Amino acid sequence: MPIELQARAQPVVGGVARDEPVDEPSAVVLERVSRTYAQARAHRDRRPAGEGVQALADVSLHAAPGELVAVVGPSGCGKSTLLELICGLQGPDTGRVECDPAVLMPQRDLLLAWLNAVDNAALALRIAGVGRREARRQASELFAELGLDGFEQARPHELSGGMRQRVAFVRTLLSGKPVLCLDEPFGALDAITRTEMQEWLTGALAREPRTVVLVTHDVEEAVLLADRVLVLSARPGRVVAELTLTATHPRGRLDAAVLDARERALAALAAGGRT
Ligand code: ADP
Ligand code: MG
Repeated sequence: MPIELQARAQPVVGGVARDEPVDEPSAVVLERVSRTYAQARAHRDRRPAGEGVQALADVSLHAAPGELVAVVGPSGCGKSTLLELICGLQGPDTGRVECDPAVLMPQRDLLLAWLNAVDNAALALRIAGVGRREARRQASELFAELGLDGFEQARPHELSGGMRQRVAFVRTLLSGKPVLCLDEPFGALDAITRTEMQEWLTGALAREPRTVVLVTHDVEEAVLLADRVLVLSARPGRVVAELTLTATHPRGRLDAAVLDARERALAALAAGGRT
């Protein structure tokens, strides 16, 4: 099936495609959301501490249940802020956020050094009151699927970056939340593991659909995996393009339509400011 593209040169007003049925359910709704941090992080933002930093400006994003929406944009344009808004970890200054229960896989894996891999992965289940044995059983099942079997007892410092990332991924999946917010989940992986993980995610979502908002630096990853790609401008992040991709998975990196989508997203990124 060919990939259809609808690139928008202008920011998406209201965020919803005009031809979208009004009554289509949404798992994630951000409507004209803006967010300014009152206190700049002086060292990162090159401005005096005390002056505010606007992270997001008038951003709208809708994800239907089971849809995978990728968000790409230059460093510092508010991508992590966007995910925290979806997960309810912070609120918008203006605009509307309405989302099904969402879990965040943060940019850093944040594994607990004193727990072994399987207990780290089972953490969300344990917090939800699941017994230790059952929580470990569920985590171990996913360990096997992700090539982590044999490392159940390893402590985080004994694992490679890619393995730690996969353990964090298992922990995220086991939260059971219908919406997964993944913040550069494959960023720390080598190219081969990255490709394997992308294929695994595609297969896992086919077996057990979830709504996914995937933040990535990697435009190719976005067009390979996503049903829709939102391109954000440099800070404050605004939506400068939205590409819709309809194609069966797995998609090939060299498929003409994938390459075309990649070029469009890169052009939008360049038009939207520094990367
Ligand atoms: P991205 O994930 O796209 O790199 P972030 O959402 O992390 O962007 O940050 C967007 C902007 O907001 C950056 O300039 C960042 O330094 C700033 N920022 C993020 N979190 C905070 C915070 N808690 N306090 C102050 N500034 C912040
Ligand atoms: Mg970030």
